[in-house]
Amino acid sequence: MKKRFLLLLTLVATMAALPAEAKKDKTTPEQKGLLTINRPTAEAHVGFLASDALKGRESGTEHGHIAGEYLIAVLKRMNATPLFDDSFAQPFDAYSYERRNAGFTVNPESVEKIKKVPHRIAPMRNILAKIEGRNPEEIVIVGAHYDHLGFDPMLVGDQIFNGADDNASGVQAVLQILAAFQATGQQPERTVIFALWDGEERGLLGSTYLSTILPR
Ligand SMILES: [Zn+2]
Repeated sequence: MKKRFLLLLTLVATMAALPAEAKKDKTTPEQKGLLTINRPTAEAHVGFLASDALKGRESGTEHGHIAGEYLIAVLKRMNATPLFDDSFAQPFDAYSYERRNAGFTVNPESVEKIKKVPHRIAPMRNILAKIEGRNPEEIVIVGAHYDHLGFDPMLVGDQIFNGADDNASGVQAVLQILAAFQATGQQPERTVIFALWDGEERGLLGSTYLSTILPR
């Protein structure tokens, strides 16, 4: 009786294993990509970017810069390809009039005017990677901004704007989509740019800056 039961168990186990084995062989490139997207990776990226240690990662500040360094390190570890030359960082300066609450801009005409009078400069950088497509004339951009609102030392209570959903969650999604594309092992139809923008909370500065450079 015991023997027969064991035999039955073994048989059931074999039957259960067979379809899974067969499925594994038939995994499509798309499935291979989708299988890489997971929650722990999301939690790791959002956990760091939205941590109090990054003090709200305001663009043009030390903490925004640290967030950028982290993303560059992640892209290097992923063996990603930079959009431009050999650097993932696309630095740019945003300008504002001297008043502390004046808005920053990257618009070339406005920048020329601002430069003639006392002004402020905020150094920023987009972090950009790409996967070249079979048709590089067509480009798809998958983007999210990594800067957020920083912190307010005059605020009563929690002074840090952590920005987990605005937009650390978007940043981790871009990184995981890139990993998924890599895992397919296939070249995409169009070139895909993976863009992590800086200065978006100050008026969509990073994406505006890249758009002045990309071919129309
Ligand atoms: Zn935002």
